[in-house]
Amino acid sequence: MEIACIIVAAGRGTRAGGDVPKQYRLLGRQPVLTRAIGAVLADSRVGRVVCVIDADDGELYQEATVGISDRRLDQPVYGGPTRSESVRNGLESLAVNAPNKVLIHDAARPFLSAELLDRVIGALASSEAVFPCLPVTDTIWSVSDGNLEPVDRQRLARAQTPQGFTYGKLLDAHRRNKTALTDDIAVARVAGLSVQAVAGSDENIKLTSGGDFVWAERAHFMDVRTGTGYDVHAFCEGDHVTLCGIKVPHSKGLLGHSDADVAMHAITDAIFGAVSEGDIGQWFPPSEAAWKGADSAIFLRKAVERAMANALRLNHLDCTIVCEAPKIGPHAESMRKRISEITGLPGNRISIKATTSEGLGFTGRGEGIAAMATATLVNQ
Ligand code: MG
Repeated sequence: MEIACIIVAAGRGTRAGGDVPKQYRLLGRQPVLTRAIGAVLADSRVGRVVCVIDADDGELYQEATVGISDRRLDQPVYGGPTRSESVRNGLESLAVNAPNKVLIHDAARPFLSAELLDRVIGALASSEAVFPCLPVTDTIWSVSDGNLEPVDRQRLARAQTPQGFTYGKLLDAHRRNKTALTDDIAVARVAGLSVQAVAGSDENIKLTSGGDFVWAERAHFMDVRTGTGYDVHAFCEGDHVTLCGIKVPHSKGLLGHSDADVAMHAITDAIFGAVSEGDIGQWFPPSEAAWKGADSAIFLRKAVERAMANALRLNHLDCTIVCEAPKIGPHAESMRKRISEITGLPGNRISIKATTSEGLGFTGRGEGIAAMATATLVNQ
């Protein structure tokens, strides 16, 4: 059985937001169309794949397919003003060396699984037209003309793609069809083909709204970044130290260009590390007078701002302060609260803890305070 697949990618859909049609929008750093093509090419029974694109999208298509070396991907063909016409153009392009069977798939469904593709292809052995569908689980109301009527959802099903057909019969049905129909099962049904439904898949979502893209990124392309920070400041004359933005009374102060908040500096560097954008010293050079005595919250806010600019969201912070004195425990809760205020991260995702170094080394001799931090960021 020779199987070809037409991927319909001619829509101008920008309901999802962004400045390119949704099938060219990036998902996990790859265009949606690239993923849809890959999902179909993953099945070795598919011998040819043709995308139907808009005449204005040639460049976007080239970019989306430049990395695909599989020779089964044919040159694209241009679509028409309606979906039906686009599909027909795709079918006509296959007429030389016509396949036995053809699959029609939406470019906006990049999560087609091997199992679903197998169900559709399997059912084509005994039916002229096959489509995957899902039951309706929401309660459905008819709201036309201001009249509210209940609809029996048991009688309804949601159609998905890929839909599979006997090639010659579908081409013939499209040649005779004169009305704009939204899927090819409708065209096949009008032409009297035998139709079989198979189980669809919830994963096989058609990306439509901006929210669909946010969901898909989170569900399929979780991007977790971890950064570490380390800082040391020496003690000097004084009557308090500032740690995580909290003034802690002490017999000494901490020496530094800014407020010498060693713990907040470690946290800030951990975030800069997770974003891969240098460290505090690069963003706020000690040589610049502006940062003399500065509240270190300025540095931490900048790191959080850089995370957001890179579409990353702070997910967790862990900081360990190393000193013999002062005691950190009584202030840990206030420190957590202050870091939460500055970063916007909920307090239960912030950990501030302390340890001594058992009298060993510079911290053990009471010469200064060290702090270490780990920041975990995820894609937004
Ligand atoms: Mg420092």
